[in-house]
Amino acid sequence: MTLTRRQLLQSGAAAAAGLGFGMFAPPARARQTALTGDRYPADGAEIIVHPVTHASLVLGTPAGIVYADPVGGADPYSGLPRPDLVLITHEHSDHYDADTLQALVGDETRIIANPAVLAMLPAALKDRASSLANGENTTFGPMRIDAIPAYNLTPDRLKFHPKGRDNGYVLSVAGQRIYIAGDTEDIPEMRALEGIDLAFVPMNLPYTMDVAQAASAVAEFQPKVVYPYHYGKSDLDEFERRLTAATNATRVVRGNWY
Ligand SMILES: [Zn+2]
Repeated sequence: MTLTRRQLLQSGAAAAAGLGFGMFAPPARARQTALTGDRYPADGAEIIVHPVTHASLVLGTPAGIVYADPVGGADPYSGLPRPDLVLITHEHSDHYDADTLQALVGDETRIIANPAVLAMLPAALKDRASSLANGENTTFGPMRIDAIPAYNLTPDRLKFHPKGRDNGYVLSVAGQRIYIAGDTEDIPEMRALEGIDLAFVPMNLPYTMDVAQAASAVAEFQPKVVYPYHYGKSDLDEFERRLTAATNATRVVRGNWY
């Protein structure tokens, strides 16, 4: 089923009214622009995946439009609906940029970040932001948000993403579970994930992990679909070869990230 923006908005608001909506009000503003992208059916709705660049993506969900790690200024987002929710995984410049946030957020936009990024947000943005630490969760309309750890394991990479600071996120809405891994290696918390429908997994050295680590981890938690993202010049053919040799349960989708 294809929903218009208004129907998505109404379905999210109706679900929120029925379920209670936690700490955030549901989006109340009509949107002018339809989100294009890869469409996945969800209970009574759909999830739309719109890769933007590298680690930045936009999701259409029954809870509203979600931007993850928007950077690069307003231009990459022209023609896209404004965000109802912005998720920020960590402070590096390919994930967090205050100028981009200030250009993109609307009156109703909420921001959820890891605690380190919350502390560095400009005041005007901090007013609309909350933090989630590793292991914490919250809701946004009908969507549950779990903060998943994201960190390096390899000794000479520990300096990039120390354990406990940065987030990945699992979004649960309309029967779908979406994992945005952030910058991480193949940590036990990733391997232990269950019931993931869509996963966004990084693979680039030296900052995250190599394709062998990524394929091994994805084969273990077996999302229905995996989008390699944040991969730079990594060999996605090798990733896919290793993954499909290990499991038939996960489909690889290559987005237009670069
Ligand atoms: Zn990064």
